[in-house]
Amino acid sequence: MQVTLAPFAGACYGVQRALDMVEGLVDVGVEVSTLGPLIHNPQVVSKLEASGVRVVDEVDEVRGGTVVIRSHGVTPSVRARIAQCGLEVADATCPHVARAQDAAAELARAGCHVLVVGEAGHPEVEGLVAYAREDGAAADVVLTPADIPDGIADPVGVVVQTTQTRENLDSIIEALTKLGLHPRIKDTICSATRKRQKTACDLASDVDAMVVIGGRNSSNTTRLSEICARACPKTFHVEGPDEIAHLDLAGVRHVGVTAGASTPEDQIASVISALAAWDAQ
Ligand code: SF4
Repeated sequence: MQVTLAPFAGACYGVQRALDMVEGLVDVGVEVSTLGPLIHNPQVVSKLEASGVRVVDEVDEVRGGTVVIRSHGVTPSVRARIAQCGLEVADATCPHVARAQDAAAELARAGCHVLVVGEAGHPEVEGLVAYAREDGAAADVVLTPADIPDGIADPVGVVVQTTQTRENLDSIIEALTKLGLHPRIKDTICSATRKRQKTACDLASDVDAMVVIGGRNSSNTTRLSEICARACPKTFHVEGPDEIAHLDLAGVRHVGVTAGASTPEDQIASVISALAAWDAQ
């Protein structure tokens, strides 16, 4: 059975940077707490917990040591609370997310009603809304044109959750334009997600089966799996190598492998080894 890994697969720059930061602190004996699970990957989070990394929901739960801000970033009020508590901080906010936060604040300072294109409730989106509101702007989350608030008027500013698709951003811009508005657009989409989706889709069209690796609680991995399933009905979403033995790979001559942006390299390597072991049986 031939196994092909998609050219862009697995941990993106921001996730790898956050992982390296935490592992570096653990290696030198620092007591580390992360504000929420570091990434949407249960195996990685359990491994970090086993090496002493605590996951806390609130700044006030941190007992000491260093608090890590995840790649999704945090709201200005959480940042202020960390400073108030006098905690050491390791800021793993992805630079692309930080750029989106700056863009939200800039639009707010320019007097815009800020629309954040993204998923309501996602920590990155909550941060972007908070950065806009911090500067006194009205701010709303829109995922589809139907979410555009009634009666919205110029000046309108648009900022985008980094993992959104360009098609979705375009549909919002088109709807705003049809309303006679002249939105100022801050295109803060990160190419990491698009590259993973595009190369996974291309590969899925060429193979008999696809294996998509990543946490079932990871929305980017789930989305990747949905995209692959459209091109290749035999698509399997797995979290680790132990699931390979249970897949129906009978008759599969070529299997494609991809992984979400929160899946580190060693997990990809272990799944590829499990596929080779299955084939050798
Ligand atoms: S997907 Fe892009 S913006 Fe998000 S953490 Fe990864 S590199 Fe950063």
